Amino acid sequence: MKKKIEKILIANRGEIALRVIKTCRDLGIKTVTLYTHEDRNLPHRFKSDEAFYLGQGTLAETYLNQEKIIEIAKSTNSTAIHPGYGFLSENTDFCKKVSDAGIIFIGPSIEAIELMGDKKTSKVKMEEIGIPLIPGYHGDNQDADFLKVEAKKIGFPVLIKATAGGGGKGMRIVENEGEFLEALSSAKREALNAFSNDKVLLEKYILNPRHIEVQLVSDGEGNHFHFFERECSIQRRYQKVVEETPSPALDDKLRAEICETAVKISKGINYIGAGTIEYILAPNNEFYFLEMNTRLQVEHPVTEMVTGFDLVELQILAAQGEAFKFSQKDISQTGHSIEVRVYAEDPDNNFLPTIGRIKSIGSSSQEGVRLDCGFSDNTEISVNYDPMIAKLIVYADERQNAIKKMDLAIDDIKFSGVKTNRDYLKRILKHEKFVEGKVDTSFIETYKKDLTKEELSDETLAAMIAGAIFSENKSLDIKTSDDDSWNHLTNFRNV
Ligand code: ADP
Repeated sequence: MKKKIEKILIANRGEIALRVIKTCRDLGIKTVTLYTHEDRNLPHRFKSDEAFYLGQGTLAETYLNQEKIIEIAKSTNSTAIHPGYGFLSENTDFCKKVSDAGIIFIGPSIEAIELMGDKKTSKVKMEEIGIPLIPGYHGDNQDADFLKVEAKKIGFPVLIKATAGGGGKGMRIVENEGEFLEALSSAKREALNAFSNDKVLLEKYILNPRHIEVQLVSDGEGNHFHFFERECSIQRRYQKVVEETPSPALDDKLRAEICETAVKISKGINYIGAGTIEYILAPNNEFYFLEMNTRLQVEHPVTEMVTGFDLVELQILAAQGEAFKFSQKDISQTGHSIEVRVYAEDPDNNFLPTIGRIKSIGSSSQEGVRLDCGFSDNTEISVNYDPMIAKLIVYADERQNAIKKMDLAIDDIKFSGVKTNRDYLKRILKHEKFVEGKVDTSFIETYKKDLTKEELSDETLAAMIAGAIFSENKSLDIKTSDDDSWNHLTNFRNV
């Protein structure tokens, strides 16, 4: 069914709300945003055409208050709701209520979210369409002794995973048989707490794998496209910290195989809209389906940088039921892009979340630097929301230049006033294994020592002082995330 979207309510906050506003402005679509007492000074409130106050309260009472959000969408005559990522983006109750209210949910069908939102049902479907799975058990029998026998059959180390899981919750690595039962009950306890569902599955724990994912977008007429891969192997506690594309681990043949498998999945489940297939790539280059995320990913900008497509625009076109006016061969990877997630946390103090008032964000005068940030100067970071305060993205002709550019960009984006993980990110970028592209998902754990703060030698201090004097002399014009830092994206619309 084709229906033109004229106004979008963005059921989210911060950087992703601003990101959606940016595309809506380009397309001439009006926007409605939501904000809480704590978020009252954030730019997303001011950049939208209309903004609604959700009051002061818990997440459930504010950004997750489904009834209230749908009420606001109706009262503002919003044609569609964009959920961003996190929050209500994969909540099928919300999708149902939105469509019952005659509003378009910008995302896939309820069936697709339901199917792929559960690690067990998605695996069953993948088996059906012939997609490689990690050896394991994902049946219904949850008896502890039975699962232990299955774990033995798989061979240790084994990974216990909550079927409803996400964000690494309800996940336990089990090294040997003796640890199994205790790990199982603790995984189940955590899963019940987090997802009100204690079902688990078992997977062979693949040693030293890489995390590779493929961006998909399917249009409203059943055409399926991939936008190549992203590598997200630099993770801490299963959370991504650095993402890049192309992956240094893939040659053309493996890349084609991985991307074509993703398209096969998309076709196999009649997907519509943007989604991501996540894989584990073993050191022997075998790859396995991990899960599908049925929404826009945090790390989508790196794909936009190398393909030139605006993924939010494609989501909107798909939601309108339109066919895309390009074919797979029009989508190519040019250059290299890296994203780092800037967290308000103290890596040198056990990654404790930090809070405070941002005095000055800063901006980079380099070409090909994009800052997706939901804050502006003089706004407060609160403990009540995700500690990720910004995404810094660079684009260059090739990987080494992208690394260098990112290093300089981190110097420019200061977030003065708040302790962030900037220095830690720089240590990752400078690590020889990262520079060589020889990383896997245990990188942060393996090189923990190298990544912790070093005592500064006199030479380093002298070099830093010299650097500081040099950067004082550079003209730093301060820009916020909603103006010039988005300018390089203009080529999105040419395809
Ligand atoms: P979640 O949905 O909780 O994020 P995922 O299944 O997506 O869980 O896995 C998150 C991360 O955990 C992956 O990116 C990878 O680093 C690691 N991981 C998951 N499954 C395996 C496995 N079988 N072997 C090794 N590492 C794994």
